Amino acid sequence: DLSLSPRVNSVKPSKTVAITDQATALLQAGVPVIRLAAGEPDFDTPTPIAEAGINAIREGYTRYTPNAGTQELRSAICHKLKEENGLTYTPDQILVSNGAKQSILQALLAVCSPGDEVIIPAPFWVSYPEMARLADATPVILPTRISDNFLLDPKLLRSKLSDKSRLLILCSPSNPTGSVYPKELLEEIAEMVAKHPRLLVLSDEMYEHIIYSPATHTSFASLPGMWERTLTVNGFSKAFAMTGWRLGYLAGPKHFVSACNKIQSQFTSGASSISQKAGVAALGLGYAGGEEVSKMVKAFRERRDFLIKSFGEMQGVKMSEPQGAFYLFIDLSSYYGTKAEGFGAIEDSESLCRYLLDEGQVALVPGDAFGDDSCVRISYAASLTTLQAAVERIKNALAALR
Ligand code: PLP
Repeated sequence: DLSLSPRVNSVKPSKTVAITDQATALLQAGVPVIRLAAGEPDFDTPTPIAEAGINAIREGYTRYTPNAGTQELRSAICHKLKEENGLTYTPDQILVSNGAKQSILQALLAVCSPGDEVIIPAPFWVSYPEMARLADATPVILPTRISDNFLLDPKLLRSKLSDKSRLLILCSPSNPTGSVYPKELLEEIAEMVAKHPRLLVLSDEMYEHIIYSPATHTSFASLPGMWERTLTVNGFSKAFAMTGWRLGYLAGPKHFVSACNKIQSQFTSGASSISQKAGVAALGLGYAGGEEVSKMVKAFRERRDFLIKSFGEMQGVKMSEPQGAFYLFIDLSSYYGTKAEGFGAIEDSESLCRYLLDEGQVALVPGDAFGDDSCVRISYAASLTTLQAAVERIKNALAALR
C-alpha cells in the first residue's frame, strides 16, 4: 500500500508559494510578469550583517551550535526584547530556530492536544490554520471587517472562547492586511484571555520594525498578567531582509520554551551557526535596526503611500490603509460576476488573480488563501517603478471587465 498519512491530506499547500512559483515559471518562459506575490523584501541583506556571516565562515565558525542557539545570540535577543519591547527574559527562555515558521509550528506541537481549538483572526497568515491541523488541533477562524481595519472584534472573541480554547494567534503588524493592533485593543483582549486559565497567546511580531508612525508596536507579553501566557515569536527575515538565512526565535516561560527545545532537538537541531553570527550583527545595528532598517522602512512607506493614492483613485476598490508590514489587502469583490473576453467569468479572488496574471501579467495572491475571498494581496516589496507599471496593468485589466 503506497498511500500517504492522513496528516498530508489534512493540510493545504501554501498558495503564496504556488503563485510565486507559477509566476517565476512564466517569467522564465519569457512572459514579462511583475511578481507582487511573495512575502519577501526586495532589498539585499545589509552589508554589516552579510559580512558577519562571511567572517563566520572564514573563521571556521561552521559547526553545530547548542540546540537552543548560541549563548551570544540568545543574550543579544534578551537585550533586544528588554530595550525595545519592555520584556524580561533570560537566555534559557529563548529558542532560536530555522526561521519563525519553525518557531510557530513547534509552539503549536508543544501546547496543542487533539480537540484543542486554535483561535485565528482572519485574514490570517496562510500557515496558521494548516499548522494547527498538523498539531492535531482545530482551527477556529474569526472573521474581521475591512471597516474595522481588519482588527479582531473583542465581542466576537468573547463569544468563541471556551474550555477548548488553547491558543489565540495574534499577528501585528499583520500579514496580509498590514493592520497594527492598538494597545487599548490588546488590553481588552488580554482581559478576556485572563478569564480562561488554559488559554495561551502566540504573538507573531515578525513585522514589528516595519511600522509607519504614528502607529506603534505593543508586545502582547508586556501587558499586565500576560507574560506567563504569551509565546512571543519574532525573526530576522523581514526587518533585516534575511529571508534566506532562515533565522527566527521564540521567547516565553521556560516550561514552554523547554518543550519546544526538546521537539527541535529531535527535529532540526540548532539553526545555522553562520546565520546566528549574522543575527548577532543584525541586533547590533542599533535600536529597531538603526539606520539600515529605517532606510528600508522609509522606502516601504513611500510605496504604500503610492499604492493607497493610486487605488484610491480607482473605481470599485475598497481598502484599509496598512499601518505596517509591506502588503496591501484590497477588496476587489465589486468585479466578481463580471466577464473578460477570451478569459471567461471572474467569480472569486482565485479567478480574478488568474485573470490578472494571464491578461495583466501581474502576480498577486487571492485573498481566499488568507481566509477572505473578497480581497487580493499585493506585496509592495518592489521598486516604485515596478509598482507604477503594475498599477497601470491592473487598472487596464480591470477596466476591460464587463
Ligand atoms: N509570520 C509571518 C506573519 C510571516 O509573514 C512569515 C513569513 O512569511 C513568518 C512568520 C515566517 O518567517 P520566517 O520563517 O522566514 O522567519
